Amino acid sequence: MQRILHCIILLFLGFCTVAQNFNQDISDYTLRVDSVPFQLVNYEGFGPKPSGSPALDLTRDWLLKKYQQYGYAPQIDTFIYQGKKAYNIIVEKHGEDSNQWIIIGAHYDSVDESPGANDNGSGVVATLQIARIIRDLNPRVGVRVINFGAEELGYIGSSHYVNNTLKSTDSIQLMINLDQLGGTLGKDNSKIVCERDEFQNPSSNNELSALKTDTLATILTLYTDLTPVLSAAYASDYIPFESKGIVITGLYQESDYKDHYHQSSDRVSNMDVNATEEVIRGAVAATVYFSRVPTTAGINNRVYSKPIITPNPAQDNVIFPTINYPFQVQIFSNLGYLLMDKEMNVSDRLDVAFLPNGIYSVRISDLRNIQTSYSTLIIAR
Ligand SMILES: [Zn+2]
Repeated sequence: MQRILHCIILLFLGFCTVAQNFNQDISDYTLRVDSVPFQLVNYEGFGPKPSGSPALDLTRDWLLKKYQQYGYAPQIDTFIYQGKKAYNIIVEKHGEDSNQWIIIGAHYDSVDESPGANDNGSGVVATLQIARIIRDLNPRVGVRVINFGAEELGYIGSSHYVNNTLKSTDSIQLMINLDQLGGTLGKDNSKIVCERDEFQNPSSNNELSALKTDTLATILTLYTDLTPVLSAAYASDYIPFESKGIVITGLYQESDYKDHYHQSSDRVSNMDVNATEEVIRGAVAATVYFSRVPTTAGINNRVYSKPIITPNPAQDNVIFPTINYPFQVQIFSNLGYLLMDKEMNVSDRLDVAFLPNGIYSVRISDLRNIQTSYSTLIIAR
């Protein structure tokens, strides 16, 4: 997937109300992610996997076996491109509503030169983890996991699926695309791009995409250490879905991977596997949330009120009179940049004299990062 990342980066934190509250069950499901480094190494080990190659066939067979081990009967969606057979792999966890689905997609081919650990081994491993974890849950909305072939040739597999395989009776509530989720070794991997539909043809699905992408960003904030940034969907398998009017969103790890992009060095050894795992945990949380897995809301669902910051507007320092536990405070600029990150004790006074006049978003969490809430701070002198 070719990326131009400077399109639109918007502030997410602080300027929206959190659409949902932290839920302990969802958090627990994200902790079921395992084996990510091993599966990435397995995927990389097949070597470069261009469409039609024996390596891609081996990768397909490895995926089929994994899904079978997880208890699925995978379907193979065959298509012909440039005289060669190619394949999408589909597994389904049915929901209570028999024709309602979310689709989680990740292409499993790579370009000629590249073993594709990040592009798109990371997305492939995410789909394996999602399939394994959702198998034991009871979503209201079905979860259809698809590994697309021939993405690198121009979304051929996903176009085939949307135009030939997808049944008109299926109601697709959301397509979540996972392409390049891996961080880069030694770089800042703290941001995760949540991708929304800004295409105009059609534009009828843009508003819902924006809303669901906002929700996705909230989920990433609640259940991972990552900072979400919003950007336009671009050049991956969600595009054929978008063109059909389906509501799309996607995840992409924003880090400086350009030296390895579509190169022979796209290897696990050049990735930040911890960051990849964190993104995958976020993708699991999103799947659980959007497929409406029942959770024990009301028992474990904790509701936190917005913390009070006073004085506000402020000049030099502020206190947080309603917080009665040690906490972490983070202050973000209106471009989403982290300006301050500090651990605080009850009744500590926070020095904000370094901040110029302006409006800032403030993220407050307990030191285990379980209780999180947001507020706005105004500096006016
Ligand atoms: Zn890709």
